[in-house]
Amino acid sequence: GVTVRNLHRSFNRSGGVLNGLDLDIAPGEFVALIGRSGSGKSTLLRALAGLDRDVEGYGRISVPEQVSVVFQDSRLLPWKRLLANVTFGLEGRDAAERGLRALTEVGLAGRESAWPAELSGGQQQRAALARSLVREPQLLLADEPFGALDALTRLQMHELLRKLCAVHRPAVLLVTHDVDEAIVLADRVILLDGGVVATDLRIDLAQRSQADPGFAGLRHQLL
Ligand code: ATP
Ligand code: MG
Repeated sequence: GVTVRNLHRSFNRSGGVLNGLDLDIAPGEFVALIGRSGSGKSTLLRALAGLDRDVEGYGRISVPEQVSVVFQDSRLLPWKRLLANVTFGLEGRDAAERGLRALTEVGLAGRESAWPAELSGGQQQRAALARSLVREPQLLLADEPFGALDALTRLQMHELLRKLCAVHRPAVLLVTHDVDEAIVLADRVILLDGGVVATDLRIDLAQRSQADPGFAGLRHQLL
């Protein structure tokens, strides 16, 4: 799981972005992170991903050994074919086999020789998910992974992410600006405000259905 204690981060201007943030995520737990633009969601995610060297000394962060990150853009390497992208940096003789299995899991069987530019945006995000999951992460960090996709493709990606998480059981921290997406996908939704976790709601299975009366109540608490 993830433990964050008293995390501070500022960028040399008045006021911090993260102001003593505490957060725990249990193994296998799916947490959605929401908050207005500029509230520090990506800053927190980058700190957890180890992408922010300057954050050291401002608090305590403990994450599992194997962490994968997905961004709004797939960040596939354009000069590598799909399978090479998915298995990039993987060790072991079975790397190609694992890569092919991951591509199949995300619905891209048969596309292993395609160039990234030959894929749609949604397919590129599927490939990015395959590249993450082939590493069997204990923690999956995702920053608006579906933000650039149309509504229908987003729904398909929700299904896919749910299925993949049920199989692989990573802890997940998913940043989204879409409250409905947060409620539908996550076990817990946290709202970042003032550089701390301002709201922390557990979502029951029943509330996930937009038809459930609890759904509107949750939305109200989070908006
Ligand atoms: P959005 O929803 O728009 O993606 P966010 O919640 O992810 O917003 P962050 O990207 O974490 O917000 O930014 C939080 C604040 O920190 C902003 O005011 C931003 O300008 C500032 N900030 C983030 N990274 C840097 C940086 N490398 N240098 C200077 N300021 C930064
Ligand atoms: Mg952001």
